[in-house]
Formats: sequence, structure tokens, C-alpha cells
Amino acid sequence: MDHEVDMTERPLRVAVIGSGPAGLYAAEALIKQGDLPVSVDVFDRLPVPYGLVRYGVAPDHYKIKSVISVYEKTLADPRVRFFGHVEFGRDLTRADYRRLYDAVIYAVGASSDRSLGIAGEDLPGSLSATEFVAWYNGHPDAATRAMALDARGVAVVGVGNVAVDVTRILAKTRDELAETDIADHALDVLARSAVTDIYMLGRRGPVQAKFTTKELGELGELANADIIVKPEEIALDPVSEAALAGQRVAQRNMEVLRAFAVKPQEGKPRRIHLRFLVSPVEILGTAGVEGLVIERNRLDEQQRAVGTGEYETLPVQMVLRSVGYKGVPLAGVPFDTRAQVVPHRAGRVMESADGAVVSGEYATGWIKRGPSGLIGTNKADSVETVKSLLADAPNLPRAAEGDPEAVDALLRERNVRYVTMADWLELEKYETALGEAQGRPRVKIVHVEEMLERIARVKS
Ligand code: NAP
Repeated sequence: MDHEVDMTERPLRVAVIGSGPAGLYAAEALIKQGDLPVSVDVFDRLPVPYGLVRYGVAPDHYKIKSVISVYEKTLADPRVRFFGHVEFGRDLTRADYRRLYDAVIYAVGASSDRSLGIAGEDLPGSLSATEFVAWYNGHPDAATRAMALDARGVAVVGVGNVAVDVTRILAKTRDELAETDIADHALDVLARSAVTDIYMLGRRGPVQAKFTTKELGELGELANADIIVKPEEIALDPVSEAALAGQRVAQRNMEVLRAFAVKPQEGKPRRIHLRFLVSPVEILGTAGVEGLVIERNRLDEQQRAVGTGEYETLPVQMVLRSVGYKGVPLAGVPFDTRAQVVPHRAGRVMESADGAVVSGEYATGWIKRGPSGLIGTNKADSVETVKSLLADAPNLPRAAEGDPEAVDALLRERNVRYVTMADWLELEKYETALGEAQGRPRVKIVHVEEMLERIARVKS
């Protein structure tokens, strides 16, 4: 029979599923509070930690990745263990976690992407920014993907920061990319890229765009690409003018965009066409993408895009949709299919959006609030979730097998080749050494088997 946790007996055992920013901020919040002894195990389905920081942040935004030093400190704490290469639902199930831990925190992010729902979307050459980002960042799931960059024209649909990242990577020269930790396979392909024109498409106006000013500004500073903005597409209607009044980011974006609109083109080999008030309506082609039909929009009173019936075809051979990420359900864990998140109240998992709280289970990060915000946003999000957990802790039923050793034993019994923090640090040393030899921060190992082999070799 379960009984309530007696805090004097042993530390509270918590499993964190996912070692990206949200998971590691949750682990940090747990060890930083002084009220309750805790023991935290952080799991990841990949052999390596840091999730979106390693595989989402653009390779040429290396400074953003310095946040890893904070995460390293958390994982180095004696109360925290890392278990890489352990997949939820396959290697350990929800029932296993409930048996082994007093509380479980889901921090698995949003690994899938939204689609456009237009004809031609399944053609070769039409893919999601999620796939493209995973490919150039060396994510194991995308490492074997064949990516031909023989398109001259590429449409990037969406005007969020991911669209900006993708556009910038497509526009950069080999030299600009060679000093980053971009995956080797991507560097080779991007160096031979035929791309001349990149069309970044916002369905609404510039005031409604989601990108931030620094990221937008970088598009005007590229060695190899001119930026082109049509003055008539950034002219504001009264609704946007009113909306602009209260929005500092949009105001700063408008200053940058107005400067772009009058900036003379320098005849660089590539061009970024930043377009507004246009929606993709059909991807043309038979064996691959041959064009993208877009419709001109206007905004209604609620700042929604409304089609005008005026069409244009863009000469593109590749379409990258960058219209947001989407959460994926975890086996056996409640999921709100409409909002595409785990339903929760202040981080406490609920059976459904208006259902009862599931005792001992929590969520944080993108799987909790949806795919929005910067890396730091996850800190406050995880603090909220951990606060709920700590408030519940005295009444949580005690896990049936709360001994930390039981986890290792079960994984060994199931022949799971799990990766520890010490293993990861060895692999990281190897990646960094490879990078040093090439004047790069690291050279990523992109295949899971190769990661595991390298770790096994160090151990033997
Ligand atoms: P996002 O900021 O939500 O942007 C999504 C974009 O897609 C919006 O412009 C949206 O337009 C558009 N869109 C959605 N559905 C569409 C459709 N059917 N047709 C045309 N356009 C459509 O998402 P994200 O770019 O994936 O970024 C996710 C989060 O990560 C954001 O919080 C972002 O700031 C963050 N991030 C930050 C950085 C950085 O700091 N450097 C880098 C990458 C990502 P509407 O507004 O009209 O819906």
C-alpha cells in the first residue's frame, strides 16, 4: 500500500522527463529550495542533454548556448543524476516512473510542427522548419536525411524567430557558417547551395510579426545577402497603427523595417525578400516544388488576415513552413489535443482540460504552455511547477520502489544502454577537441550509435 512521504526517511524522489531548458530549470528549482531534501533524476531520450539549446538554437547564435554552463552546474549537483538514451514509453513507461518516483515532471517540449493545410504541401521540397533546423543542428532524428539545396528560390512561411533563423542560415556564406557548431553534413550542403532568393512571408502586417528586433536586424547585416522590403507592405492601416502604440518590440521592429525599405541594394549574390500581408494558398509542382501561390491579405478589426482575391506566384523550388511547433502526446499521459499541451493547473497535470488533478504528475515548458517564449521564459514556468510540487509534497503517496538504485537495476535488466553525466562529459570533451582542431566550438556527433560507441570506448 502507498503511504504518504515521510520526509525524515528519505529525500523526495523526482523524475524529470526531458533535459532541455524547462527540465533543467525544474531540476535547478528543486535543488535550490532549502525546505525539502530532494533527489532528482533527469531523463532524455537522446544520449546527450540540453534539448533545444543543443538542437534548436541556431549554430551562429553561439552566445545563447552559454546558458549551458548553468545547466551543467545543475547536472553536476550530487542530488541530480542524468539518464540519457532512455525513451519514455519504450524503455521506461509511465507506470515504471510512478513506481520509482514520488513525483514526475514532464518537460518534453514540442517536437512536432504545425502544417499549412494547403495543396502541394506533401511535395518533395516542401518541409517544416523543424525538420530543417534539426538537420542543420545535427539532431540524430534528422542526421540521415538527404537534403538537396538545389533550389534557387526558397519560401519561408512565417515571421517568427525560427523563420528568421532559417532564412539567415540559408543566406549565409560557407565562411560565416564554418566557425559555428553547425553539423558537418549541413555545412557541406549549404556551402554548395544554389539559393539566390529567399522569400520570408508574413500573413499579417509588420506590427503583428512575431520576430524580435535583434534577430530582424541581423538580416540586414549579412555578407552575402541584400534585404528587400516593399514600402507599401509596411505602410500601416489604422488598426495596426493603433496596435503599435502599446508595443515596444513592434515599434523597434518598425524602425528597422523602415530602414530596410529605403536601403539601397548592394548587388549581393543573395536576396532576402521580407514580405507582409500575404498567405500561401497552393504549392505548385508535380515531382517537386515548382512555385508557391500566395494571396494578398488585408487585416480586419481584430488584426486577422483576410484574403483579397489577389494572387501572385513566387518562383520557388523549396517551401519551408515555419508556422510554429506542436506538442506530441506521451504514452499514457493526459493530452489536450486541441491546445496540443498536457492539461495542467499551475503545472499540476490534469486528467483533461477541465478534469481532476493527477496526483504526483507535473508539466513544464512548451508541453505545458505551448511553443512560445525565449529560453529564459522556461525558468519562471518551471519555478511555478516546482512550487506546486513542493506544496503537494507532504501529501504525495510514497513511491513503491523509491531506492535510486532500483532505476539503474531496472534499466540494466532491460538492456537499456543509458548514458550518465560522466559519460556525456567525456563525449563533450571529444566533440570539443574535434572542434578545436578546426577552430570551431565543437563538432557534433550526430548518430546515436556513434555516441554510444565513443562512450563505450572511453569506458573500456
Ligand atoms: P512563432 O513566434 O509563434 O511564429 C510563428 C509564425 O508563423 C507567426 O508569424 C505566425 O503568424 C505564422 N503562422 C502561423 N500559422 C500560419 C499560417 N497558417 N500561414 C502563415 N503564417 C502562419 O513561432 P516560432 O518562430 O516557431 O518560434 C517559437 C518560439 O521560439 C518563439 O517564442 C520564438 O521567439 C522562440 N525563438 C527565439 C529565438 C531567438 O531568441 N533567437 C530563435 C528561435 C525561436 P500569426 O502571428 O499570424 O499567427
